[in-house]
Amino acid sequence: MFAAERCGCDLRGGMKRLIALSVLVFVVAFAATLAWKLWPELTRPKYVDPAFRIPSPLDLESIPTASRFDFPLGNENGAMAYNAQRFTESKHLGDDLNGIGGENSDLGDPIYAIADGRVLLARDGGPGWGNVVILLHAYLDNGERKYVQSYYGHVQDMLVHSGETVKRGQQIATVGTANGRYFAHLHFEMREFITPFIGPGYRQDTRGWINPTKFIEAHR
Ligand SMILES: [Zn+2]
Repeated sequence: MFAAERCGCDLRGGMKRLIALSVLVFVVAFAATLAWKLWPELTRPKYVDPAFRIPSPLDLESIPTASRFDFPLGNENGAMAYNAQRFTESKHLGDDLNGIGGENSDLGDPIYAIADGRVLLARDGGPGWGNVVILLHAYLDNGERKYVQSYYGHVQDMLVHSGETVKRGQQIATVGTANGRYFAHLHFEMREFITPFIGPGYRQDTRGWINPTKFIEAHR
């Protein structure tokens, strides 16, 4: 009788310790998970690379208004250059512009800013892209100020930096091969959005992208 009572007492004490231990384990695990999840947010650097910063309305206002648009390769009318793969051909999001000599004859040729604008991004776009330059232009459409982006892919040398203001016809880069991946050419896109986005190059859904040749021809 006495032994049995003592035994029950031990059992209750053991259960209490087990419950206390379970609660402790739960609390520690919960705190650890919370810390794990929140750590990147708490330690995230306050500085954001200008290349990833969405232009603020104030920045947008300071972009010069482009009066006209030119072609980026060959001469301003697009002479001495041809389009090897047009916008939407095989889901292409831009035009592939080449010097008329073909193959690598245009390697290192100058690429010009198509209009006055601001450099949004100038950096390595990763495998398949090589260096990429993105400009943002402001222009007037029936009196309304609008924005359009020009995108220069696979370039060899970049001659401008993010945040810089550029003039129409200013050399901004040279034609490249995406680090030897292709024959030299300029992958040239125009976009209606303002975020500096490297992009996929090809896509079925072309919303946000516009026909570069048509746009330039309509804004000479
Ligand atoms: Zn292309």
